Amino acid sequence: MNPPTDKIYLDFAATTPVDERVLQAMLPYFSRIFGNSSSVHAYGQQAEAALENARQTLAEGLNCSPGKVIFTSCGSESDNLALRGAALARRARNSADHLLISPVEHHAVLRTAQQMARLHGFEVEYLPVDETGRVSPQDVADRLRPTTAIVSVMYGNNEIGTINPIREIGAVCRERGVIFHTDAVQAAAYLPVDVEELNIDLLALGAHKFYGPKGVGALYVRNGTPILPVLTGGSQESGLRAGTHNIPYIVGMAEAFHLAQVERDQRIAHLQPLRDRIIARVLEEIPEAQLTGHLSLRLPNHASFVFRNVDGNALLMMLDLEGFACSSGSACKTGDPEPSEVLTSLGFSREWALGSLRVTLGTSTTVEQVEAFLDRMPAMVERVRAFR
Ligand SMILES: *Cc1c(COP(=O)(O)O)cnc(C)c1O
Repeated sequence: MNPPTDKIYLDFAATTPVDERVLQAMLPYFSRIFGNSSSVHAYGQQAEAALENARQTLAEGLNCSPGKVIFTSCGSESDNLALRGAALARRARNSADHLLISPVEHHAVLRTAQQMARLHGFEVEYLPVDETGRVSPQDVADRLRPTTAIVSVMYGNNEIGTINPIREIGAVCRERGVIFHTDAVQAAAYLPVDVEELNIDLLALGAHKFYGPKGVGALYVRNGTPILPVLTGGSQESGLRAGTHNIPYIVGMAEAFHLAQVERDQRIAHLQPLRDRIIARVLEEIPEAQLTGHLSLRLPNHASFVFRNVDGNALLMMLDLEGFACSSGSACKTGDPEPSEVLTSLGFSREWALGSLRVTLGTSTTVEQVEAFLDRMPAMVERVRAFR
């Protein structure tokens, strides 16, 4: 099935298509160059060379040595390895049992921390966030304890687009000798991920958010960070992640990451004015609409709103019928009409939080698509309001 050409995709924070150049880079590794990178023979060496080449590419963007890049199966797995792996290692070493995380983390962090509390006796403490979802470095400093095993604050928020002051939070943790993890799965598409500049110990990436394939991710692990494997078995990835390497996907991830680095400025120059156009027109033309997240400290392709007394799911369905693919926040669709935890933790009441909409743009988004969307939006919101 060809993609529907009459449809307009505005959900690039959920996932992106694989860039044609990325696909071309991947193709030889499915069949022609198929060796197991752990094998001694020439086939294995060829796979190994591709693997280490990809690792080198990520290391350049992260500003670390290649050995500090651990390939995983997705962003979620990277977050799991960071949190569970580092927290368990820190506790084994010096009884640290305090997890300090932001309340607006992706479920890959949030649910992992909650399971660590439930099953393994850790205490989870949630950092305060302001009304835009930002964590203040001072609030982190005030809550660090000698027993803090790990601090986790996301770089760019998937649901509300807000960018956190990662470098400053990292500096606070560094000074106190506490491990700092950041989920950069959204941010890596558009923001620099220099782990030295940003004072980061652990950083999670997922390829399908920056025009790479789904099902591959990476975790940066600073030298000397205590961490235990979550997936045990073979000694791949410095013993931190067992399993035969998925070479085509890893090659694709590296190519996509490289393109995101070299094309960053032009992508932002294209997307940010479109984002700002959406924010301006929606707030101007739709009554009882509010922006969620920060006005300027937000991902350049990300606009998100709440509309009072609107059923967000009904709005999404109406948008879909009219040919626009948007989201209400996270990509996980559930039938339950509970408002998003992220929005309620920002202080939005139910009557606002249930009417959320996320519009996220991509490199292929055009001015015409954005204008078509904006021309139809006010009437659609009005119609959904009238249902109630
Ligand atoms: C998508 C996403 C994840 C999960 O990544 P997957 O590769 O889909 O597992 C984690 N964190 C954030 C912020 C995301 O946007």
